Amino acid sequence: MPTPPKYVVVTGGVISGLGKGVVTASLGTILQAQGYQVSMVKIDPYINIDAGTMRPTEHGEVFVTADGGETDQDIGTYERFLGKDFSKKNNITTGQVYQTVIRRERNLDYDGKCVQVIPHIPMEVERRLKEIGGGADFVIVEVGGTIGDYENILFLEAFRNMHLRGERIAFVHVVYLPVPKNLGEMKTKPAQHSVRMLNEAGIQPTFIIARSEDFIDDVRKEKISTFCNVKPDHIIADPDTDTVYEMPLIFHRQGLTKNLLDFFGLPTKDGLGAWEQFVQKIKSPHHEVKIGIVGKYFDIGSFTLEDSYLSVIEAVKHAAWHHQAKPRIQWLNAKEFEKNPVSLSSLAQYDGIIVPGGFGATGVEGKIAAITYCREQRIPYFGLCYGMQMAVVEFARNVCGLKGAHTTEIDKHAPHPVIDILAEQRKNIEESNYGATMRLGEYPATLKAGTLVHRLYGTQVAKERHRHRYEVNPAYIDRLEKAGLNFSGVSADRKLMEYIELPDHPFFVATQAHPEFTSKALKPNPLYLGFIRACLERRAAPVAIPSHR
Ligand code: GLN
Repeated sequence: MPTPPKYVVVTGGVISGLGKGVVTASLGTILQAQGYQVSMVKIDPYINIDAGTMRPTEHGEVFVTADGGETDQDIGTYERFLGKDFSKKNNITTGQVYQTVIRRERNLDYDGKCVQVIPHIPMEVERRLKEIGGGADFVIVEVGGTIGDYENILFLEAFRNMHLRGERIAFVHVVYLPVPKNLGEMKTKPAQHSVRMLNEAGIQPTFIIARSEDFIDDVRKEKISTFCNVKPDHIIADPDTDTVYEMPLIFHRQGLTKNLLDFFGLPTKDGLGAWEQFVQKIKSPHHEVKIGIVGKYFDIGSFTLEDSYLSVIEAVKHAAWHHQAKPRIQWLNAKEFEKNPVSLSSLAQYDGIIVPGGFGATGVEGKIAAITYCREQRIPYFGLCYGMQMAVVEFARNVCGLKGAHTTEIDKHAPHPVIDILAEQRKNIEESNYGATMRLGEYPATLKAGTLVHRLYGTQVAKERHRHRYEVNPAYIDRLEKAGLNFSGVSADRKLMEYIELPDHPFFVATQAHPEFTSKALKPNPLYLGFIRACLERRAAPVAIPSHR
């Protein structure tokens, strides 16, 4: 019999937005560095079955797993930190739990019993955790939301119950210690109240992570220890840092690894291995690289904007750090290029331009104009999903002379529908069947020998994750190819165009996939690495740019 996994359950108190995802990922990282098999779970207490139907500008990026799940962005954080791929099953929502319980009730699976919120909902939560945790030494679970929310109580009930029945669980509560300006002193009262609320749910925290601007001092540590009933050396500071990737080190240096393993009666080895060198590299860049991301959603503030494109930003950072460069990322409003075409020349100051994934008509002509500028002025261009579709539209219009070429997502009656919807996708839209119906998850692409993408991947087959409904229209492939657009990677059945590139351009590569979803902190994605290298080459030897064409 394999030993059952041990659980580390992370809850949050006081305010939302504490970076619980990073804390949870850091706990996974330090345990994994000790040689343990770690599985990660994010619990989202909303009714949605998955994150796919939620607006990224309100809920953050929709992260796509290899098995085609549209999950919370925290799953992405776990994958990047741990360097592992997780399943859609690692993201549990209230909607999924209720859906299963109701389906089982309809199937008479409960033997004529009255099916009740308690115990049947927590029991289904537990069943899912056990399924995910099979074979792992540790299952680290992040409970979404904040203590005191009505909606996460049934999940806490599951853990209270498991703990009562002897499961090995360390409860880690992340609190916020505000420093009011007029007092200039770290206050612990809101943290004390949130621990009390956790106690009301029948849970006593084993560890407290004290999120604040600074490290917590001994006086406050003692206070929290006394009032929250947690050992002083189980109270760990979580101060502001330049990079979230430093958190595993900060936790480890405060003894969290040792204390956590002591709690479970397990020995500790020293150090964090490769992670230390990685953070050292982040902190000692040799040069800089300046990337412009042309997008929309500018009316929502830059914080939310960054959350909507989290994986793209992190993938750029991983690749830049790998090349010992400090990444400087600038958001460029596509709508601005539409209103004011002269502003396109401002693109010349960047080492490279990205047009990321997207949906709908907003800013599309601005994106296309930016792509024209990069193509003509030989600025490294990297297109992701919509960014590839727009590059194909641009090429069709301006190189093939196909006037009015477009995607049918925007112009249903385009004279040249170079990007079009697949038949089965058209049916989904007609039936308003939107949830989890896109082309989702990992698909292999065969790469053409001798192309740049082939060189960058170093393999004949590349596997990347997808999330889209539209494709390059096969009726136009010949014409586009004859005009010089190289379809450098195609789907296994050769029907779908997965990569494009322009042979005589320093770097003009786009893909129908989202390679950012496979970029890991210690293992950047090969396409991002190639793009950043081209950007650094441009920086070292910039091409002369005419002021405006
Ligand atoms: N809107 C496009 C499609 O559905 C692109 C999607 C994306 O960029 N993820 O095909």
